[in-house]
Amino acid sequence: LFPALTGDPALTGGPAGPGLRPALTFGDRSLTYPELAAAAGAVADRIRAAHRVAVWATPTAETAVGVVGALLAGVPAVPLNPRSGEQELGHILSDSAPALLLTAPGEQLPAALGALERVEVDVRGAGPVPHGTASDEDPALIVYTSGTTGPPKGAVIPRRAIAATLDALADAWQWTGDDVLVHGLPLFHVHGLVLGTLGPLRRGGSLRHLGRFSPEAVARELSGGATMLFGVPTMYHRIAEALPGDPELVKALSGARLLVSGSAALPVHDHERIAAATGRRVIERYGMTETLMNTAVRADGQARPGTVGVPLPGVELRLVEEDGSPVAAYDGQSVGEIQVRGRNLFTEYLNRPDATAAAFTADGWFRTGDMAVRDPDGQVRIVGRKATDLIKSGGYKIGAGEIENALLEHPGVREAAVTGEPDPDLGERIVAWIVPAEGQSPPGVEELAEHVARRLAPHKRPRVVHHLDALPRNDMGKIMKRALGRA
Ligand code: ATP
Ligand code: MG
Repeated sequence: LFPALTGDPALTGGPAGPGLRPALTFGDRSLTYPELAAAAGAVADRIRAAHRVAVWATPTAETAVGVVGALLAGVPAVPLNPRSGEQELGHILSDSAPALLLTAPGEQLPAALGALERVEVDVRGAGPVPHGTASDEDPALIVYTSGTTGPPKGAVIPRRAIAATLDALADAWQWTGDDVLVHGLPLFHVHGLVLGTLGPLRRGGSLRHLGRFSPEAVARELSGGATMLFGVPTMYHRIAEALPGDPELVKALSGARLLVSGSAALPVHDHERIAAATGRRVIERYGMTETLMNTAVRADGQARPGTVGVPLPGVELRLVEEDGSPVAAYDGQSVGEIQVRGRNLFTEYLNRPDATAAAFTADGWFRTGDMAVRDPDGQVRIVGRKATDLIKSGGYKIGAGEIENALLEHPGVREAAVTGEPDPDLGERIVAWIVPAEGQSPPGVEELAEHVARRLAPHKRPRVVHHLDALPRNDMGKIMKRALGRA
């Protein structure tokens, strides 16, 4: 998986000289490629007899070294979210039954992990890089889904899916060994771990992890030589809010090669504000735990708000209507479920043959559960999740996302989520959950209904408005619509 680690000098011969380019930097801890290879080699040597290892996935160099060590050893790794509750950890541990737990030295661990034998990762450790015997189809990672729509399921991700996705992104984004990526994402999901941490290693580039995300930290890293930024929409929202008062941030973003958002829809309002202030458009990519990356706006493509780009090389993508017939139109309005096929796909949900069988069609297409349209230029636009974002009201199928985007344009709205609830006349009626902007009088249902009806169409106006102090979000910043009384 990592030619740069296993000794191809052509891949580590960057500006810092052969082999001396930093592979990973977390805070004041930086590892060159030879140092990473040695430390991960020591981990690989220690765990090679295990059938599976859990990783206490704090945002640290130890986590990165631990995961790379497991990949070198060919032992599947199960990243754990350190902020999970005991019940969730208990579920993941009994489901995945790891033999060992990799942690940074001195971590305080919750009781649910007490019984697991612990291996402390030493980032200065040294061991030989094993000669890989793992094959393409062998499991590399077991990653539990975000649990946005139900209890987390362990997606078994084979080595070839990681290689396929990283090579496709390298192609789409002209991502090379000269790039320095900055992100502040957690390391227990595919975004921060596969794309953000393993991504730079594939082509011999560098990662600088922010530790804790802040717009100031982003400005500092981008001014200090980082070329790409990966973030989730909540981060770009904070950047959009900070830009007007922060000329350093404006300058830093203007100079970046690529600003990338994913894991959830980037609100149009934030996309537009960042573009207006910096002249740069955030590009979106769309993927999920089960498929790694499906689509991305290419580095040479057109980033329009709401578009997530085109299928990556090697990914087959189709839109399918409820009755199973394909959506042929590229008209920006015919909605279908996204189904994908390709080398980027997972193999199964661990211990869940029922869920695995339900997720695939007879001819091997994975049902993503996401609804989308295609624009005339081939770019995909996500409408939302079939389960929570599609509202059937008055004979129309309405996507929650466009209403959320319209609500966010109202000066009195800071955050917005839209759901449907049963209605005797309409089938479902549209409900808006908003966090009012500070220092404004919270807009009521009449005002917001009028605001939406003016921008979209009258049948898309909310009939009910709830005011909240905050929207329920998970650790990736995704809105948990289940907690809003739907699905
Ligand atoms: P669970 O499957 O447990 O309910 P989850 O689907 O949130 O959780 P992930 O695999 O982390 O878990 O997230 C993938 C989902 O995130 C996609 O199916 C899609 O709904 C959403 N998503 C990812 N990228 C984008 C994007 N650029 N725009 C809109 N939605 C996105
Ligand atoms: Mg999902």
